[in-house]
Amino acid sequence: MTRITRRELFQIVSSVAPAFWLASGAAAQEQPALKLEPIGEKLSLLSGAGGNIAVLEFGDGLLLVDSGLPQTAEAVETRAHTAGPGPIAILINTHYHFDHVGGNERLGRAGARIIAHENVLKRLSTTQKIAAFNREVPPLAPEGRPKTTFSDAGSLAQGGEKVVYRHLPPAHTDGDTTVHFQNVNVYHAGDLFFNGMYPFIDYSAGGSIEGMLADADLMIQAVDGKTKIIPGHGPMATLDDLRTFRDMLAGVNERVSKLVSAGQTLEQVTAAEPTKPYDEKFGKGFLKPADFVHILYAGKTAKRG
Ligand SMILES: [Zn+2]
Repeated sequence: MTRITRRELFQIVSSVAPAFWLASGAAAQEQPALKLEPIGEKLSLLSGAGGNIAVLEFGDGLLLVDSGLPQTAEAVETRAHTAGPGPIAILINTHYHFDHVGGNERLGRAGARIIAHENVLKRLSTTQKIAAFNREVPPLAPEGRPKTTFSDAGSLAQGGEKVVYRHLPPAHTDGDTTVHFQNVNVYHAGDLFFNGMYPFIDYSAGGSIEGMLADADLMIQAVDGKTKIIPGHGPMATLDDLRTFRDMLAGVNERVSKLVSAGQTLEQVTAAEPTKPYDEKFGKGFLKPADFVHILYAGKTAKRG
């Protein structure tokens, strides 16, 4: 394997054209267009920096869920501070991917306590191999790694808000964590939920579509009809949107599984267009239908072998 920088990785990853990774490479030197919008009392959504970021203002400090891309770290820090007074005291990571932990080193150096699942710490502490691209991603500097880890779940009481973070079984990666702001009833799903687009699934890091489907069911049980859901990518969502995403996963998984079980090649599976009923709603964003099928085929055949 060739060792590369994160910047180079963006260029490689952009060859399969996930929209936000593409933007991160092409627009690396430009001022990112971040948007901060209120979604509940003391809680805001910071978008445009890679993965969606939640910002909680708790009186004498701020709590963030995820920290965006490396090249938006400074802009994220600056913009988050406009949400309220005090330092960015706490940062919870939903998983280890670079578009969710890119501000970790900067915020960690500034004093933020970083909380994440124990598998996130492991992956951020060592070089990661991304099989889909045959490349390596170097670890974060120690200041950017989680200082507080957990194996199952935990909670914080901050400024009248109860923040419950919970690890779900491997799905997108093996460190997937949801964060529920219980009083205001806002739920950050991380990359277990891509709203209105096919999800990337990191089979190199323990992910699978079967896991995504199982976790979608767990998330549906964890929220209610009034919950405002922050997906890892895409616009704010409702329980109905999450159900639609879950049904797409189930439908595509069933079709692709049948074709793979029948011994079809990648070309045959792709030609059968197993995502077709869902392409109108999910096929125009992050991954194109053929990219999604490719990821699933590679994952399923690797597991069979
Ligand atoms: Zn991710």
